[in-house]
Amino acid sequence: MLSGVPELPEVEAVRRRLRPVMAGHRFVRVIVNRPDLRVPFPPRFAARLTGRTALSVDRRAKYLVVPLSSGETLLMHLGMSGWFGVDVTREDPEDARHDHVVFRMSSGRAVTFNDPRRFGFMDLIAAGALGRHGVLGSLGPEPLSKAFDAEALAGAVTGRKTPLKVALLDQRTVAGLGNIYAAEALHVARLSPERRASTIVTRAGAPRPEARRLVNAIKQVLEEAIARQTRATYRAERFRVYGREGEPCRRASCRGIIVRRTQAGRSTFFCPVCQR
Ligand SMILES: [Zn+2]
Repeated sequence: MLSGVPELPEVEAVRRRLRPVMAGHRFVRVIVNRPDLRVPFPPRFAARLTGRTALSVDRRAKYLVVPLSSGETLLMHLGMSGWFGVDVTREDPEDARHDHVVFRMSSGRAVTFNDPRRFGFMDLIAAGALGRHGVLGSLGPEPLSKAFDAEALAGAVTGRKTPLKVALLDQRTVAGLGNIYAAEALHVARLSPERRASTIVTRAGAPRPEARRLVNAIKQVLEEAIARQTRATYRAERFRVYGREGEPCRRASCRGIIVRRTQAGRSTFFCPVCQR
């Protein structure tokens, strides 16, 4: 597997799976099997959830956001290896070793959080404090929202001398895009990851056609990836350029060969012929 780290499409797929099980239902029982994940659970975590209703299951970047009837918000992150199972049954008790949290809901369903490496986290945020919460406060627009358009992207990269892909990974530009889908979107948009970010806007700060292409490409690759989450497709078949160093470009009219470069410590893959 190229990358086990869940990116936005994986988290969105989890959200869509958990929503019917949790939203509108009470936490009947909360079982917490250890004191911490990446950081300790908040004080009285189970008690503050029990009896409360999950009002919805939302997502912000790669965070699952569950507003509660108490006014608090349950914030959850999958980390590197975390996953949520619904109505998990264990034949071998050893398989349950990494089941750290179980939510028994009034829907009659059970939601189990399993995380072998424990880089995930869960927190409870006070009413009204979500926007000021460390990680969430400085995030740019959601890539699939109307707020993320060519004008918003232009505003975020105006004057930026960093390479375009590095600017896309900056969470203030767009929330939760991630390394793989940034590379994929740049290929769809026929833009080099190495071009200076500010070259997709005019001197006055207005979006050039490249900015419009890139916004559309980002939405397209994410929506396709979310749709694929519901089908069992071999992971390597998912990507246009990511992980394909040395292979022919998949664009029908292009004879380029995919190359790999390192930018800001991350691998990027692109076609030097059709991406300019
Ligand atoms: Zn190409």
